[in-house]
Amino acid sequence: MDTKDLERKFHMIGGDGEKSYARNSSLQKKASDMAKHITLETLQQLYKETRPKSLGIADLGCSSGPNTLSTIKEIIKAVEVAHNNEISNQPLPELSFFLNDLPGNDFNSIFKSLPDFHTELKRDVNDGDFHSVFIAAYPGSFYGRLFPEKTIHFVYSSYSLHWLSKVPPALYDKQGKSINKGCVSICSSSPEAVSKAYNSQFKEDFSSFLRCRSKELVAAGRMVLITLGREGPAHVDRGNSFFWELLSRSIMDLVAQGETEEEKLDSYDMHFYAPSAAEVEGEVNKEGSFELESLEMLEADDEKENVDDTSYGNAVAKTVRAVQESMLVQHFGEKILDKLFDTYARMVDEELAKEDIRPITFVVVLRRKL
Ligand code: SAH
Repeated sequence: MDTKDLERKFHMIGGDGEKSYARNSSLQKKASDMAKHITLETLQQLYKETRPKSLGIADLGCSSGPNTLSTIKEIIKAVEVAHNNEISNQPLPELSFFLNDLPGNDFNSIFKSLPDFHTELKRDVNDGDFHSVFIAAYPGSFYGRLFPEKTIHFVYSSYSLHWLSKVPPALYDKQGKSINKGCVSICSSSPEAVSKAYNSQFKEDFSSFLRCRSKELVAAGRMVLITLGREGPAHVDRGNSFFWELLSRSIMDLVAQGETEEEKLDSYDMHFYAPSAAEVEGEVNKEGSFELESLEMLEADDEKENVDDTSYGNAVAKTVRAVQESMLVQHFGEKILDKLFDTYARMVDEELAKEDIRPITFVVVLRRKL
């Protein structure tokens, strides 16, 4: 599947049904809540330096559901605080929100909830004369240009940048067969060429991302990028890669039961990569338009007790399903999905009983150089 195919086909489950991303994204919400103070501080710095009359704000990989609008609301509140600290005797600036995601995203469900959202804003955000808040959608891949030059002050992106533009082509041999057998991502059994292929795809993608944004951001504009990451140079750990290792094992289980073919598992590869801090920093320095203001590593540790589900494994399985179903269905067909995610939930719980799995999240703050 090439980039164009992937852009058409990859999407979170839309709407607000039981399996939708809207109803299965509370794990992402909890984690990005931990980064709220960073967003606030960054906006305050931006404000000090630029004192904008009108602010262009982009949310890249906005998806659909409660997280999309609560992000906008948090940003509005943060702008309000920053504004009042700096220049409280003047009216608040106009805010233009540019919501971006791939074209298959359920933008309509966001649009449908906007009237209620505007009513809520009037009620919740202090003074009545505020809010020139304008919200528009910019569908397309953030690995290409999205906005006109120098129109954006602030870029926010949460849990989106670990999705590559495509499955790395170097994963396939001359016959077009995947070299990553029995595994959907980087596993403990994967040959080294697999992590190399993913790493070079990440470099290519992240540098295009930076290049495109460098044109679109105003001088001193900021980006807050929240993404899954790795603790160190090792590609296989009990953080992020382990969740995909367990997904691979769950599919293997179905192969053993004759529910799907081994060849199908061998040829399925995800377009996911969790970089290390050094890899992020390396690309930022190489591209050169941004200064790395900070990179914080967050660990969502007490999540497991706080999920509103029958078990943590179930919560993880529902989240992963809302995110991966669009791709899995095309490859394996719909039939295996219920069983696959039951198995997956059980495996996550079993593994957790043995030893913790700690997903690592990076919060990267970048400043467009003058
Ligand atoms: N920001 C939301 C959604 C995260 S899910 C939250 O924090 O809950 C990740 C989103 O990134 C998905 O909606 C997916 O479609 C989007 N995405 C992945 N690759 C993308 C790309 N190249 N360009 C734009 N959006 C992308």
